[in-house]
Parts: sequence; C-alpha cells; structure tokens
Amino acid sequence: MDAETFEIKAYPEMWQELGMDVARFDKMRLMLGEIYGKTFLSQQNRPVRMAYFDQTIAEIHGGRIKELLAAKAAGRPVIGTFCVYIPEEVVLAAGGICVGLCGGSQGSIPDAEKILPRNICPMVKSAFGFKVGRVCPYIQVVDFVYGETTCDAKKKTWEILDTMVPTYVMEIPQMKNESDRTMWLHEVKEFKARIEELSGKEVTVDELTKAVRVMNDKRRALQRLNTLRHAKPTPISGKDVLLIEQIAFYDEPVRFAAEVNELCDELEQRITAGEAVPSKDAVRIMVAGVPMALPNWKLHHLVERAGAVIVNEESCIGTRYYKDLMAEDGQDMETILTDLTTRYMNIDCSCFTPNDERIDQVLKEFRESQADGIIHYSLQFCHTYNIEEIRIREACAREGIPYMFIESDYSPEDVGQIQTRVEAFLEQIRG
Ligand code: SF4
Ligand code: SF4
Repeated sequence: MDAETFEIKAYPEMWQELGMDVARFDKMRLMLGEIYGKTFLSQQNRPVRMAYFDQTIAEIHGGRIKELLAAKAAGRPVIGTFCVYIPEEVVLAAGGICVGLCGGSQGSIPDAEKILPRNICPMVKSAFGFKVGRVCPYIQVVDFVYGETTCDAKKKTWEILDTMVPTYVMEIPQMKNESDRTMWLHEVKEFKARIEELSGKEVTVDELTKAVRVMNDKRRALQRLNTLRHAKPTPISGKDVLLIEQIAFYDEPVRFAAEVNELCDELEQRITAGEAVPSKDAVRIMVAGVPMALPNWKLHHLVERAGAVIVNEESCIGTRYYKDLMAEDGQDMETILTDLTTRYMNIDCSCFTPNDERIDQVLKEFRESQADGIIHYSLQFCHTYNIEEIRIREACAREGIPYMFIESDYSPEDVGQIQTRVEAFLEQIRG
C-alpha cells in the first residue's frame, strides 16, 4: 500500500441497508483515505507488520462491519461503548462483541450541534453527530449502546441518544471509598444481568473465565508493544502505536492480540539491529490526557512532523486501557466479579476525586518511557482533565520535567498555532 493509491474500501449497498447517508459518507470515506495515506503511509522505515493495521483501516467501514453483521445474524449482540470502564469481559462471556464508538472526527460535529449545545467536548459531539447524520456504520450496526456516568456531557447525552438507539447506562462512582466499591460491584452485577437479558445468554463461570483470559491476552500484547517502543532509540513511530491503540477498540480481540504480538517480534529484531524511527537522537515526547479517538491523529502528526517521536500515551486510548490485568483464577462468580471490579477501579480517569494515583502514574510512565518531556493534551470543555492538568503541571515542575499543555478540538483551525508551540517546546528540550 502506498500513500498515493491507498483507499478505504466502499460498501454502498451494505451502508444503504444500514440506513446510512451513503452519498455523504462516501465523501467522508475518500477524505479519510487521503488523510490516512498522507499521515501514515508517507512515513519512512515502518515495520513490515504494520501492513495488517493498514489493511484493517482499508476495511474499517466494510470488512469489520460484515463480521459484525454475521455475528448478529448468528444471534450475538453487538454493543457500542464509549468508555474503558464498561467491562468488556462480561459482554464477551455472553457471546457479544464490544465496539468503541467515541468520535474523533470533525465531520459529524455540525450534525450534533443542531441538537446539543456547542460548548461541550468534541468527543461527545462527534460520536452523537455520527448517529444524527447517519455517517458511521458502527453506530448503525450496534444493537444497543452502553453509556456510563463518568462526565456530565456524556451522561446527559445518553438521554437524547436513547431516542435514536437503545441506550443503557452503568453508574460509575466518582470516588473510590469502600462504599463506592460496594456500589461498583453492585453495578457490575446489574450490568451482567442486563447483558444476559439482552443477549438471552447466561454468563457462566467458565465463559467469563475464558473472556477474562482473552482480554488479559489482548492487554498483555498492548503492554508488550508499549514496553518495546520505550526502547532507546524507539523502533516504531508514535503515530503507528496510536493507530494500533485505536484499532484495539474495533478489532476482534484474539486476532488483534496475535497481530500485535507478531509486530512485537519484528520490533524486537529492530531493537537488536538498532533500527530507529525516526532517528536515533529524536526528542522523545510522552502524551498524557484525554483519549484520541479515531481519526484524531492531529497532535501525533504535528509532533512527529517536527522531527520528534511520541513514546507513550497516558490516555484511555493508551495505557489506561491496558495497564491493568485482572486475576484469572477466580473459582466462583462472586470472586470473579469482585476481581473484575477491582481491576476496573484501578483505572485513574480524571472524573474521580481525589485522583492522586493518576499524578503518580503519569510520573511513572514518564520514567518508564525514557521520554524527554510531557505534553498534556486535553479537549475543549473537558472540565475534569482541564482542571486536573494543574496538578500534572505542578508535579512536572517539582520533578524538573519539561512540560506543555495543549487544549484543542478536532478542527484544523489551531494547527498552525499548535505547530509553533510544539516546535518551541522541542527547541526548549534540545537546549
Ligand atoms: S477519559 Fe474517562 S470517561 Fe473518557 S473514556 Fe477514559 S475513563 Fe471513560
Ligand atoms: S474527554 Fe472529558 S468531557 Fe469529553 S467525554 Fe471524555 S471525560 Fe467527558
């Protein structure tokens, strides 16, 4: 595949059957293919095993959707989620499939703004706009959506989204006291009961144990990838790792883990051979903050175009999704659900208060990734990350870590300004 000829494959008949706005979506498909070619396929010295992930993008609106339709035809529910707090293990154990629906595209925001207020986070608007404009095959294919109560923008949007697609909500507490743990376990049990009811399939200890192993294996593969990219010099670009982290929310988990492990084998050989991307002395940047949903590649592209390399994403599309495994040896349902609750309670989203563990985690990941500086990336109107940024900034000042804060949205309007700031930050690090 090359940058000039790359194209995301079109499936107009299937899109029509899914009730999409085919003419409009086809334009978006062409535009996305072009951006993908320029952003990813123009990179030099990419690992050969990235071919699988390029192919996944080429088929992102076709091949994977066909798989989901085949699963539905076989009676397996397809569930859309928006947050890493939704326990995928339970869905898998009920024979279901989870797909991430977070929006990273500017194209659907005007659709959302016809209904939602403008001054909320672009991730929520983008995802909601996909449904309003009928321009995302994933949100069209899901049987139902499972939202959560992590932030105000999301939890109030679920009420509106429910008029367009059945939307259920899992309550996530905002603190981590003992009473919250009790409530969380109760919510996990309710979630399991709801998934059983909707799928018509009981979640057994055996099936849940298998699902826990599948998810642990997927997370282990991503951990391995992240550890390998921390090598100095790094054997893979930050853009490519971000892409893989994004695909993790769409792809079939067993196949995905196998492909990530194959790539990791290649990266080990590259490390031994001293092969560097982009160059041995590139400034290494760690990104912390909000998730970057597909196709939000803006910051990574700007940083790497300026000659630096991103070596870690402390984010939900990043380490927050895979840093925690869970026990695999629970013998009964109560123990497994308790272990599962413990695993999910370790996720350190800024919607919690207090959230000291995230500050420690950012510093830990900075050291592990051998980065030279941190860029905290936030989306406009995301109050929790924008305010928690103050504490991250203070921690970096205390530790003498070069630090920059960027608050952005999905529009191209601030590209020039971010580029100038990124270049100045890299110069500051280079001294
Ligand atoms: S940032 Fe928080 S609310 Fe958003 S996906 Fe991550 S855990 Fe969920
Ligand atoms: S980025 Fe912030 S405001 Fe947006 S959905 Fe996530 S937590 Fe909510």
